[in-house]
Amino acid sequence: MLIDNHNRVISYLRLSVTDNCNMRCQYCMPAEGIAFSHQSDLMSWDEMFLLASTFIELGIKKIRITGGEPFVRKGLMEFLHRLAAVEGLEDISITTNATLIGDHIDALKALGILNINVSMDSLDKARFNFITRRDYYDVVYNNVQQLLQKGFNVKINCVVMNGINTDDIIPFINFAHEHNTNVRFLEEMPFNGHSKSFERLEWNFLKIMDHIQQQYPQTHRMQDAAGSTSENYTIQNRKGSFGIIPSFSRTFCGTCNRIRVSAKGELQTCLYTNESVSFKVLLQQNPHPDLIKPLILKAIKSRFKDGFEAEEKNEFKKSMSLIGG
Ligand code: SAM
Ligand code: SF4
Repeated sequence: MLIDNHNRVISYLRLSVTDNCNMRCQYCMPAEGIAFSHQSDLMSWDEMFLLASTFIELGIKKIRITGGEPFVRKGLMEFLHRLAAVEGLEDISITTNATLIGDHIDALKALGILNINVSMDSLDKARFNFITRRDYYDVVYNNVQQLLQKGFNVKINCVVMNGINTDDIIPFINFAHEHNTNVRFLEEMPFNGHSKSFERLEWNFLKIMDHIQQQYPQTHRMQDAAGSTSENYTIQNRKGSFGIIPSFSRTFCGTCNRIRVSAKGELQTCLYTNESVSFKVLLQQNPHPDLIKPLILKAIKSRFKDGFEAEEKNEFKKSMSLIGG
């Protein structure tokens, strides 16, 4: 079992498989001029598999595949196939923009990978395309419908942006009811790679909640899963549920059970730090779990107490596509 220096059990790894993406969401990255990593700077699938297996040996039970856009990288399905067979791993989940998942839905189901979080920041086509700076609304919407019809546990992630998509909050709540699913509203974080300015957070979790309760006063807090970053609610006499993720307010750090590995093989123990431990050279030159484990354990034993402590040394320049959300 992995236990950090603040006595938190670390059981959840967010594994980014690429920093590349076929969208350009405004809150995540600039429209152009992005220097995506060269393929040779990324971990190979074999290196990633060895690293992931080592984490699992140490006590990681859940891995979320993220990016960039995970389905942009060739070989993802083969990697998932191998990962799904590793003993001790209880859950593989994926966070995706759902543009490219369509061809893989049946294969994912066959692998038992049913927990899919889809980033969708508007139900209005023009607004969706404005936010993502691409024209994929219909593809994404249809893929979400397919996932729902085929019994996947779909969660919609919507980053709430002042002056851009707050009119989508209630339509998304209604979407959750109509499709008996979960939609989560994320506070916007300043990790946009200089895509837009970020002075202060206007729509924090309290304002989002207040907005929802003006329309639906009868909300009921659900029991959150251990280490959950979202506060989840049902609405009386309505199906589905909604969650709010205070990603910027960071009220959840005390129970944080997660760590992150970038596609380049850098372990980051807090979303709000720039500090990382790199495994790339070791994975290339001497790929043995016994050499990797001490580095992981050392990093786990020197985690920040919370995102505010981590932020003190940080500058909010990077793009979320490098961190994986
Ligand atoms: N491309 C995939 C996707 O969009 O779902 C996976 C990677 S994306 C970086 C992972 C998550 O981070 C998404 O849910 C996205 O909405 C969220 N995210 C990205 N930038 C963010 C920001 N500045 N503030 C809050 N959430 C952000
Ligand atoms: Fe790509 Fe996801 Fe970032 Fe949007 S949020 S630009 S889909 S990595």
